[in-house]
Amino acid sequence: MAYSSTFEDALLRVQSFAKRADINAEITEALCHPKEMMSVSLPIRMDDGTKQYFSAYRCRYNNILGPTKGGIRFHPNVNSDEVQALALWMTIKCAVLDIPFGGAKGGITVNPKDLSPMELERLSRAYMRAMVNFISPHRDIPAPDVNTNALIMAWMLDEYESIKREHSPDVITGKPVELGGSLGRDDATGRGAYLCTLELIKVMGWSPNNLTVAIQGFGNGGYHIAQLLEKVGCKIVAVSDSQGGIYAEEGFHIDSLWQEKQRSRQVRAVYCDGSVCELINHHPITNAELLELDVDILIPAALEGVITKDNAHQIKAKAIVEIANGPILFEADDILASKGIKVIPDVLANAGGVTVSYFEWVQNRSGQHWSLDDVHQKLKDKMIDAFSQVWTLAEQKNYSLREAAYINALNRISTATSKLGTHHYFKQT
Ligand code: NAD
Repeated sequence: MAYSSTFEDALLRVQSFAKRADINAEITEALCHPKEMMSVSLPIRMDDGTKQYFSAYRCRYNNILGPTKGGIRFHPNVNSDEVQALALWMTIKCAVLDIPFGGAKGGITVNPKDLSPMELERLSRAYMRAMVNFISPHRDIPAPDVNTNALIMAWMLDEYESIKREHSPDVITGKPVELGGSLGRDDATGRGAYLCTLELIKVMGWSPNNLTVAIQGFGNGGYHIAQLLEKVGCKIVAVSDSQGGIYAEEGFHIDSLWQEKQRSRQVRAVYCDGSVCELINHHPITNAELLELDVDILIPAALEGVITKDNAHQIKAKAIVEIANGPILFEADDILASKGIKVIPDVLANAGGVTVSYFEWVQNRSGQHWSLDDVHQKLKDKMIDAFSQVWTLAEQKNYSLREAAYINALNRISTATSKLGTHHYFKQT
């Protein structure tokens, strides 16, 4: 079937892997239908006195393993199809990590950069007001996603607590630490991906020293993995953002690059002014060229659907670590596999964020506050354990890492679902 939507692409993968793992057809079918989808229009009084309407969504995809969990995205491209795909991936991701959560996702179709701070606060609070009976600490727990942050989570929490007239920090994660957030949440996604990358380096028998790395998307996830990989000796030779990328054969100094990006708002400006300019020989590249660089590790950390059947043949990296959700289309999986490229899939590589969100929820529910060392150690244990289970299954059955991750998740979801009875059970009575 030809690819026509992100959700359809996500379903194709689930169906194909479920068939391969011989998952009960009734259970596979259940995973093709989102449990609940809320779609609303949010009327917002703008600063100039006019009223504008914003489309907003929340999908609770599957809750067999626990309350549903997933971020809220503010982006002009948010639509119901994308929200459903992201919610399905969250379902798989929580199951890969063996976290007692189902999957969800939400979003508002908006470019937040077009709003004033007060308009942004009104919109964030309006979202929570609309979803207040959909969301709860036992039912559905949101978190930040693209273009949302701790401050937006704080506004949403405040709105929820005002309506419910109770203290409920466990209703949302990614909050400011002072309002019950967890230490270690800000770099959790990059750190989780880094831990998986180190495990891959180990099992492949490589050494991190001088491995070359290209990163598409020098934002939260991209920056933190770059910083951690640089510390173990990798050379980050290319980074990019929405304006384009830069390449330096000798590798960048990640913290200088990050500071300059914060100042200039784009990576391409970084080495063109300021004192670091003369230090490193570099040249501009496009985002498309970055993906095709001859590097050891490629890290797509920005957008969905950037590697397709059209450019998969040109990818030269030995390994790809998916920090972005869905950067490789289903149609490109086999092409990459035939080239021997190891792909650490998004449902494993970027699961550090939801893992520390889970830790935050546990701390909120038990009235605890863990140290940063505790969070780092628990995250490390969880990521290494999940990676090792995926790697072992992949080796045993000759699966790709993506297939093995999905099959581990599908088996967990399937076993839990079957405890409610399946066609096989009812047919016998
Ligand atoms: P972010 O907004 O901090 O960074 C995204 C980066 O991508 C920015 O540098 C931006 O300029 C760049 N970008 C945007 N459009 C681009 C384009 N067309 N080409 C190249 N670069 C472009 O976001 P983030 O939190 O780092 O998230 C990045 C990806 O990782 C998203 O797909 C997100 O869903 C996924 N992810 C993030 C987390 C998390 O906790 N941050 C967790 C799981 C998955």
